[in-house]
Amino acid sequence: MNRRIRTLQKMLAREKLDGFLVTSLTNIRYLCGFTGSNGMMLVTRTKAMFYTDFRYQEQIKTEVKGCSARVLERDLYASFPVEDLKNIRRLGVEKTHLTLARFELLRQQLKKTKFIPCRDLVLELRRKKSPEELQLIIKAQRMTERVFRNILSLIKPGVTEKDLAMEIEFQFRRAGEPAFPVIVASGENAAKPHARPGGRRLRRGDCITFDLGCRIDGYASDMTRTVFLGSPDPQMRQVYEAVLTAQQEALEIIKPGVPCKLVDLAARDSLLRAGLAQFFGHGLGHGVGLDVHEQPSLAKNSTQTLESGDVVTVEPGVYIPDKGGVRIEDMVFLTRNGCLNLTSVSKKMLIL
Ligand code: ZN
Ligand code: ZN
Repeated sequence: MNRRIRTLQKMLAREKLDGFLVTSLTNIRYLCGFTGSNGMMLVTRTKAMFYTDFRYQEQIKTEVKGCSARVLERDLYASFPVEDLKNIRRLGVEKTHLTLARFELLRQQLKKTKFIPCRDLVLELRRKKSPEELQLIIKAQRMTERVFRNILSLIKPGVTEKDLAMEIEFQFRRAGEPAFPVIVASGENAAKPHARPGGRRLRRGDCITFDLGCRIDGYASDMTRTVFLGSPDPQMRQVYEAVLTAQQEALEIIKPGVPCKLVDLAARDSLLRAGLAQFFGHGLGHGVGLDVHEQPSLAKNSTQTLESGDVVTVEPGVYIPDKGGVRIEDMVFLTRNGCLNLTSVSKKMLIL
């Protein structure tokens, strides 16, 4: 049994569960190392079992650690090993992952089991990054920064957003893979926080927002920078400085014990003073790890509190419709009494 599974077992006792069914593949990877596309885990107070199908019979011999592994039919839910659930009365399920169809299949086979829809317990465990996990996130971030610096020399009038996005993804593939579809948004497209790179050609005076992240050995990084092609107009300059100030004010208060919503509020207040708060419509940041978006959430309505071991982004943005936008995103690691910024690319306004 490994440490992660043991920690989950301790949670089961606190949650008054006899067992917990893990159906999220990312959670399964975190608990036992399996990286395939079909798996399920049953963790009881004393045992841990992993299930997959024939296609992964060989892979699991080297990959799966800390629990027993069994090969079932491809539809793991229809061929659920009912005998493994003997003595399990209260079974927790991941309510944010288990589909209704699969739930129905389980319920038909397990008439005596009481299913308890649970919050994502493993996702909560995943918040606290180990030194090894942190190293992988830093490695992914360094790769992201290398690719970003390489790309700067390609930013010229006439180049399309798509050209730049393809080049970024190509370079990521050398060391890992893109952690999410890269965002390259220029001019008025930069007013859309999640714009998709298209055929728009860069022009002088454009702001260009790059949101990019690489994944190495499962772990993601996430960074955003907005640069300018030629001199920006005075309004966009003011926007840039205001976003940067908002980010700095949020970064200054980040430490364990601080409610996540207060960090969001620090950035929002700063933009309010600059008269730009109405253009900041998304949350300030999110956890990063095996998923690009994980816990905790740095948002207005968050009920979470920052803890040491968290890796979170801080990414205020201001989006002026039909004109452009600026977002600046860094990733930080929560130390025992503050935070360590994992992003080393300069945030000084860059005019190319
Ligand atoms: Zn991002
Ligand atoms: Zn982000």
